[in-house]
Amino acid sequence: MSVRVRYAPSPTGHLHIGNARTALFNYLFARKHGGSFVVRIEDTDTERNVEGGVESQLKYLKWLGVDWDESINKDGGYGPYRQLERLDIYQQYADMLVEQGLAYKCYCTPEELEAEREEMKARGEDKLHYSRKCLHAPEQDKPYVLRFKVPENEEYTFHDIVKGEVTFRSEDIGDWVMMKNNGIPTYNFACVIDDHLMAITHVLRGEDHITNTPKQLMVYKALGWNAPTFGHMTLIVNDQNKKLSKRDFSILQYIEQYQELGYLPDALFNFISLLGWSPEGEEEILSHDEFIEKFDEARLSKSPAKFDKEKLTYINNRYIKELSIEETVELCMPHLIAEGILDGKDEDWVFSLVSVFKDRMSYGKQIVELYDEFFEQEFTLDQEMTAFLAQEGVNETLLAFKELLIDVDEFTAANIKPLIKQTGKISGAKGKLLYMPLRIATTASMHGPDLPQVLALLGKETVIERLESVIQ
Ligand code: GLU
Repeated sequence: MSVRVRYAPSPTGHLHIGNARTALFNYLFARKHGGSFVVRIEDTDTERNVEGGVESQLKYLKWLGVDWDESINKDGGYGPYRQLERLDIYQQYADMLVEQGLAYKCYCTPEELEAEREEMKARGEDKLHYSRKCLHAPEQDKPYVLRFKVPENEEYTFHDIVKGEVTFRSEDIGDWVMMKNNGIPTYNFACVIDDHLMAITHVLRGEDHITNTPKQLMVYKALGWNAPTFGHMTLIVNDQNKKLSKRDFSILQYIEQYQELGYLPDALFNFISLLGWSPEGEEEILSHDEFIEKFDEARLSKSPAKFDKEKLTYINNRYIKELSIEETVELCMPHLIAEGILDGKDEDWVFSLVSVFKDRMSYGKQIVELYDEFFEQEFTLDQEMTAFLAQEGVNETLLAFKELLIDVDEFTAANIKPLIKQTGKISGAKGKLLYMPLRIATTASMHGPDLPQVLALLGKETVIERLESVIQ
């Protein structure tokens, strides 16, 4: 039997990093086993669907490099792939279950259900399950939902790829709604019908769905179908080990945000693949194909996946370092243009700017931050820098350097570079006492990229002005 897995987003928003991870692991699993990866749109919660949600999900999956074999735009013979286009299918199975006495019509109104729950609470009951008042109710000319009749004293045990053996007891689950009064199924019911009809062999999804699994298992059993193999991936947590909340703005959670900032899709793919999974061996920087080749579901982590921002930065930086200058310029260009940094600058200037900062970057827009840091900040020295410049002989060093620079016609890094050495010869300063004052007095910083290159980018006028402001 060939492997078939699915990613089943609800189009309630943009592609979230947690969902992207689910998609990615399913994709890797399918590719690893030569199977099929299906994207099914679970849009039955109509009030939560957002306009453009489906397109956005697919667009950013594609951007990440997660491609599918079947979906709404690619029929593989198992469609339709959008749940709202499958309502007659669900109805057919729901009717079957009602006929067999495995599901029933419930006419209770939301108010009645609420009152019932309040009474149960007042009586001190801990399980607020539906009372089954309508289990044997006569046919009525009123709106109704269909409830699944949860079998008594059943145990639902399954072998989870991540968690091992998991058991739920039916007494912990009340009769749940499988079809709403508008003929639209609920998630747990639709999911089973679709997974079965789409011949899904493995369901890999987030741990937040594990309590749904017993409900789904009872539907499989009621319909006489074999259930797929399940794997529930641990949650993604922040550095305080708290589940990622959509309100946590310290972590970018939507793939769209990464794309906008000029992250490289392959780098993000690499980072996400390590959220709750690790390859054998030490190397964590792997190509797309290596991830496919090395993916092993047995290595899905059993503890929560920490979203490590430093690792995100590190991995993305590694990928940028691999780019050519031309590719990096291309990545930075839209951001430089948007910020008006290129006004009055020529191509050479852009290439120098990018080559100076390339190795420090993790994403395209960072060039703007680095540019601001080095070129736009007010030129002010802190105490440590002032103290450094106050050392004996420093003033002479700065003076000598300035005099040499004044005579430079073409203010390029290549022309500036030898002048540093020459300054040393004139003033007698060596090592840190030579380099540091020059850096501080021109950039108001004690570290940074190659000084001649930075000076060339700053331009002669600014550099001389800064030196003069510091020289006593
Ligand atoms: N539509 C569900 C979600 O977005 C899918 C759950 C599943 O994979 O079964 O969470």
